[in-house]
Amino acid sequence: MSTPPPLRYQHGTDPQFAQRAADTFSLEDFDSALMLSGPCPRCGQEMDFMLVKELFRDGTGEGDGTGADPVPGRPVVMYCTAEAVYDGAPDGTSGCGAFWSLTLPAGAGG
Ligand SMILES: [Zn+2]
Repeated sequence: MSTPPPLRYQHGTDPQFAQRAADTFSLEDFDSALMLSGPCPRCGQEMDFMLVKELFRDGTGEGDGTGADPVPGRPVVMYCTAEAVYDGAPDGTSGCGAFWSLTLPAGAGG
């Protein structure tokens, strides 16, 4: 007998997701990326989310694309990447469908 996950897949967001993630996720800084790890604020499964710094650089100046700094305080969108597949998920989609915006703490990637 297996116990089905208590949640169905649902693509959606809630202000609480961002709040909870900000409280519980840990941030690791690699040279070219930031790794956020913690429990999904909706389904509670452990998940990792990789942010490539290039994606949230300030797009001004630096014609060759090097040397720009990440921009602390700029929100990025995260979504559930838990390995669990929930009832109602589109084919090949894992995670519960939750997404939320995360504001990087000042100094991240500094
Ligand atoms: Zn989730």
